[in-house]
Amino acid sequence: MGLFDKIFGNYSKKELAKIEPIKNKVLELESKYADMSDEELGGQTAILRGKLDELSTLDDVLPDALAVCREAAFRVLGKKPYPVQIIGAIVLHQGRIAEMKTGEGKTLVACLAAYANSLTGNGVHVVTVNDYLAKFQSEEMGKVFHFLNTSIGVVLTGMNKEQKREAYNADITYGTNNEFGFDYLRDNMVIYKKDKVQREHAFAIVDEVDSILIDEARTPLIISGQGDKSTKLYSLADRFAKTLKPVTVVEMDDKADNDLLDGDYIIDEKAKTATLTKSGVKKAEKAFNVINLMDADNMTLAHHINQAIKANGVMKKDIDYVVKDGEVLIVDEFTGRIMQGRRFNDGLHQAIEAKEGVEIARESKTIATITYQNYFRLYGKLSGMTGTALTEEDEFREIYKLDVIEIPTNKPVIRVDHPDVVFKTEKGKFNAVIEQVIECHKKGQPVLVGTVSVEKSEYLSRLLKNKGIKHEVLNAKHHDREAMIVAQAGKYGAVTIATNMAGRGTDIMLGGNAEYKSLADLQKMGYSEEVAVEAAGFSNTQDEEVLAARAEYKKLYAKYSEEVKELAEKVREAGGLYIIGTERHESRRIDNQLRGRSGRQGDPGESTFFLSLEDDLMRIFGGERITAMMDTFKVDENTPIQSKMLTSVIESSQKKIEGRNFNIRKNVLNYDDVMNTQREIIYKQRQQVLDGEDLHENILGMIKEFVEDSVNMYITDEDVQDNWNLQGLKDRLMGIITVEDDFNYTPQELDEITKKDIIDLLEDRALKIYAKREEDLGQELLHEIERVVLLKVVDTKWMAHIDDMDELKKGIGLRSYGQKNPVVEYRMEGMDMFDDMVASIREDTVRMLFTIQVRKNSAAPKREDVLKPGEHHNMTVRKAKKPGRNDLCPCGSGKKYKNCCGAGNGVQADEAEQAENSSDSSEK
Ligand code: ADP
Repeated sequence: MGLFDKIFGNYSKKELAKIEPIKNKVLELESKYADMSDEELGGQTAILRGKLDELSTLDDVLPDALAVCREAAFRVLGKKPYPVQIIGAIVLHQGRIAEMKTGEGKTLVACLAAYANSLTGNGVHVVTVNDYLAKFQSEEMGKVFHFLNTSIGVVLTGMNKEQKREAYNADITYGTNNEFGFDYLRDNMVIYKKDKVQREHAFAIVDEVDSILIDEARTPLIISGQGDKSTKLYSLADRFAKTLKPVTVVEMDDKADNDLLDGDYIIDEKAKTATLTKSGVKKAEKAFNVINLMDADNMTLAHHINQAIKANGVMKKDIDYVVKDGEVLIVDEFTGRIMQGRRFNDGLHQAIEAKEGVEIARESKTIATITYQNYFRLYGKLSGMTGTALTEEDEFREIYKLDVIEIPTNKPVIRVDHPDVVFKTEKGKFNAVIEQVIECHKKGQPVLVGTVSVEKSEYLSRLLKNKGIKHEVLNAKHHDREAMIVAQAGKYGAVTIATNMAGRGTDIMLGGNAEYKSLADLQKMGYSEEVAVEAAGFSNTQDEEVLAARAEYKKLYAKYSEEVKELAEKVREAGGLYIIGTERHESRRIDNQLRGRSGRQGDPGESTFFLSLEDDLMRIFGGERITAMMDTFKVDENTPIQSKMLTSVIESSQKKIEGRNFNIRKNVLNYDDVMNTQREIIYKQRQQVLDGEDLHENILGMIKEFVEDSVNMYITDEDVQDNWNLQGLKDRLMGIITVEDDFNYTPQELDEITKKDIIDLLEDRALKIYAKREEDLGQELLHEIERVVLLKVVDTKWMAHIDDMDELKKGIGLRSYGQKNPVVEYRMEGMDMFDDMVASIREDTVRMLFTIQVRKNSAAPKREDVLKPGEHHNMTVRKAKKPGRNDLCPCGSGKKYKNCCGAGNGVQADEAEQAENSSDSSEK
C-alpha cells in the first residue's frame, strides 16, 4: 500500500472501486434468478458446481453464486442482501477483512461468501465467538443452505466425535474459534485416521475477527494432562509473600536503584510486574533457609515466590479474575467475560488459588498447544468481519497477511459523537455520568453505560440505586443472561450498565427486541429456556413441544414486532440510544466498539466519554504531562476540563499501549513460531502414519542412521584405533545388533579395519536381522507394527519435548539480562533439543522394533492396545539383554542365537541344534 493511500485513507476506496463491477454484475443477475421457480433455483448449486469442474474458476462463477444465494435468502428469510452486503461478501471471498459496522447484517454477508466458496467442496468454516451465536446463525442461515441443497453443520462444545465429524464433513461448518482450534489439536493426538473429525483447512470466515485474532491471541490454546508435581510450595510461597511489604511505582526506572525503595517487592503498575528487592530476597533466603535464592539450584523456589508476589501484588480480584464456587476464573479484560476453561499459565493460576485459599490444582503438563495465530494460518484462505479493524490494520497485515477494507454503511451514520469530557477526580466524573443518565432518563432516551471492570459497574449501580433509577447490570458475573439484557438496552427509558463489549454480537434495536421479548414470554408460559430458544430458531425438528412453542412464538413475535415499531419511533424522537463511556480502554478499538452499538442502520444516537485525570490510563500512561496539568487546572472536581492537548495525550497513550500489546502478542507468536516449525514436522509424520503409508523404507533408513549415530558416539573419525571405544559401542547395541563375541579383533586385524568397515558390518547385520523379522512375522504384520511403534514413540517424545520447551522458555527469560535476544536463544536451543528428540525417536523406534515380541498367528496388534499405557496384550517391549550362545535369538526367529543372527560373528553355527519354535515368548 502506498504511503499516501494509507495517510489519506484512500486504500479502501480504491479497492472498493475494483469490486464495484463484480457487485453490479450480481445486481444485474437479480431478475434472472427471481424468475426461476424454487426448484430451479435450488438446482443452481449443482449447475455451478458442474461449471467449476469444467475449468471455470471460483471467480468466474462468483457473481452467479452470490446472485443465487441472494435470491434464496430473500425467499427463505425475507431479507434481500443490500448492495453493501454483496460488497462485504466479495471482500470475504477475496480473503480479506471486511470492516462493517454493527447492524449492517454481517451474518448474511458470511452466508453469501460461505455459499459461493462451498461450491468447491473443500469445506468452509464460519467462526463465531461463542456457541450461542454458532448455533443460532447456523440454524438461521441453514434454511438458506438447505434450500440451495448445500449441507451445513455446527460444532458445539460437548458434542461427540461422531456428531463433530458429520458437521465437519458438511459443505459449510459453523463453530467457535475455541472448538475449531482444540479439535485440530485433538485430531493430532488420535491413533487412527478414522478418529479424526476435521478435514482440510480450506477457507475460514472469522466473525468478530478482531476479538478472535487479536484479543484472544495473547493466550495460546493448551491441552494439558495431569502433572505430578506437588502443590505445597505454592501455599508456602503464598504465606511468605503475604508477610512482605510491597511498594507500588507507576513505572520502574532502569537507572534508579530500585533496591533503595522501602519495601520487599516492587509492583510496577505499567508493566504489571512484581520484583523482589534486595530486602525481599534476604527475607526469602531466611524463610526458606537457602544461601542464595538466585542460585540455579533454587530456580523452582524463586519461580514460586515470583508468582506468589505477582498473585498478591499485581493480580486483582474482580478485575483480572473472579472467584466463583471455589474456583478462580479468568476475566477477559476486553470483553469482561469469564474465560471458561482457561487458566493463567506458568503457575500463576495456582499462585492465585493459594492467595484466595481455594483448592490448588495440580500443576498440569502441556501435551499439545498452538496459538490462534498459527492455527488460523493453516487455512488456505482466511477472511474476517468486524465493526472495528482499521486501528489494528498493521497487525492483521503483518501477522495474517490480511488487509482491511472499510465498507460503507447501508444508510449514513447520523450518531453524534460528542467530545470527551474530562474531570479532575474520579468522583467528579461519576457525578457527571449520573447527571447525564438522569437527563436521558427523563426524556425516555435509553442509555448504555460502558465500564472497564466488574467493580466499577457495581459501584455505578449503587450510585444509580441511591438516585432511585431502575437499571440492569451486565458483567462477567451474569453472563448467562447477557444477550437477553443487551437486546433490550434500546427500550424506551432503559438504563443498562455493561462491562465493555458484554453481549457482543447481539444487536441493540431501538424500542426493544421483539425476538427476546417473545422468548421471555414463552418461558413465562412454562417452556424451558432450551425449548424456547429452539422454538425461536430455525432448526428442522419434529419435536412436538418445540413445534407447539414455535407456533406460539410466531404469534408473540408478530405482536411484539408491531409494538416495537411504535416504541422505536418514540425512542427515535427521544434521540436514540445514548452511549456513555466511563473510562478509555487501553485499545481505541474497544472504545469504538462501544460507540458503534448506537446508530445502527441510520438510527439516531449519541455517545460521550466521561474521563478523569485519576483514571488508570491517564495516571499510568499519561506520564508527567498529566501530572503537570493536574496542578495547572485549578478547577474544582465537578467542573469539566476541555483541552485539545488532553485529547491528544489520551490518543497517544492509547497508541502507545496498543503498540506494547502488539509486541506482547508478537512475542507469544515468536516463541510459538519456533514450536510451529517443529509441530508441522511432527504432525506431518503422524499424518503419514495415519494415512497408512508404507513406512518400511523410512524404518530401514532409521535403522541405518541409528547404527551410524551409535558408531559416531564411540569411534573417532581418525584411524587411531587406540581411541576407539569398541566395548562401549558393543554394549550400546548389545542384544539388538551386537553380541558378546563381537569385535574380538587381533591387534593386526584392528590396524587394518576402518570406521566404515564397522558401520558396514553393523548395518548389514542389522538389516539382515530385520529382514528375518519380516520373514517371520509376515510383511503385513510387521508393517503395521512399524506404524504402531512409530506413533507411540513419536507421541511420547513429542509430549515430553513440549514440556521441555516450556521449561526452556521459562529459563530463557532470565537470560535477556545478558544482552542476548531470548527468542534467538530459544530458537537455537530449541532446535538442538528437537534434533536430540529426533535422534531419540530413532533410537527408541529401532530398539522397540528389534525387541518387540508378537504371538504368532495372532491378528495384527491393535494400536489402542499398544498406545494405552499399562495395557499390553499380545505385544510387549522386552528389555535388551545379552544373548548367550544357546539363548533364543533376539530377532524373534525362535532359533538359538548361534544358529541365527549370531552365526558368523564368532558364534559357531550348530545345524543340529535347531531350536523349537517358541514364538509364544511374550512377557505379560
Ligand atoms: P451485525 O452482525 O452486522 O451487527 P446482524 O447480522 O446481527 O448484524 O444483523 C442485524 C439485523 O439486521 C438482524 O436482525 C438481521 O436479520 C437484519 N438484517 C441483516 N441484513 C438484512 C437485510 N438485507 N434486510 C433486512 N434485514 C436484514
